[in-house]
Amino acid sequence: MTVAFGGNRALDGVGMSAERGRVSGLIGPNGAGKSTLFDVVSGLRRPSAGRVVLGGRDVTRMGPARRAGRGLARTFQRLELFGRLTVRDNLLVAAELGPERRRAASAVTAILERLGLTEVAGMTADALPTGVARLVEVGRALAVRPSLLLLDEPAAGQDDAETERFAALLRSLAGDGTAVVLVEHDMGLVMSVCDEVTVLDLGKVIAVGPPEVIRADETVLAAYLGDA
Ligand code: ADP
Ligand code: MG
Repeated sequence: MTVAFGGNRALDGVGMSAERGRVSGLIGPNGAGKSTLFDVVSGLRRPSAGRVVLGGRDVTRMGPARRAGRGLARTFQRLELFGRLTVRDNLLVAAELGPERRRAASAVTAILERLGLTEVAGMTADALPTGVARLVEVGRALAVRPSLLLLDEPAAGQDDAETERFAALLRSLAGDGTAVVLVEHDMGLVMSVCDEVTVLDLGKVIAVGPPEVIRADETVLAAYLGDA
C-alpha cells in the first residue's frame, strides 16, 4: 500500500498480513503510518497504489460498509463513539447490522459481560473515562462478529489491572479464530500478546518477526530513540 499526503508518503509500499487465530502487532513511532494503514484496510482511504485482500478477495474498490459486511471491524485512535447513546445502545447499533441482528440484544449482553462492561451498560458514552470508552469501542467492533479486528491504541488510558485483563481478552479473541491486529504503544502489552510484530517507521516496514526478535532489533531501537 502507498498513500501520499502532498509530498509526504504516509505509507510507502507497505505490506502486512494478518491471520485468523493470531494477534499481529503493528508498532512504530508517532507518524509512522499505523492509523493510515488501518484507514486503507478499512476502506476510509484509497491507496494510490497497492491492494487490500480480505479472506482471499480483493476488496480495494469496496467501501467501508461492504468491507464491514465481509467481517472487518475496527476501533479508532481518536474515539468515535456515539456520545449521547448508552453503552448498550452503542453496541446494539452495530449488532443490528451484523450477522446476529435477529438476536442482537442477547448478543450485546454477552459482549458486555465478556468485556466487564455490564455495570456501565446504562451510562452514556460521553460520561465514561477514556480507558472504559475504548473498551466500549472494542465491544462495538465485536458486535459485528468480525473475522478481522483492527484495534488502534485500544489500551491507551487503561491502568495496569485493566491492561492485564485486556491482554487476556485479546488472546481469547484470537482463540475464537479472529485475526486481531493491535496498534499499541504499551510495549509490555505488545510483547506479551502478539504472535508477530510488524514495525513501521516513516511509512516503511523496518522489521517483522516474533516479539523476542523485534525486542532485540537494533533498527527498531534506533527508530524509537530517534522519536524521543
Ligand atoms: P501513526 O498512526 O503511526 O502515528 P499516521 O498514520 O496518523 O501515523 O500518520 C502518518 C503520516 O501521515 C504522518 O506524517 C501524518 O502527519 C500524516 N497524515 C496522517 N493523516 C493525514 C491527513 N489527513 N492529512 C495529511 N497528512 C496526514
Ligand atoms: Mg495513529
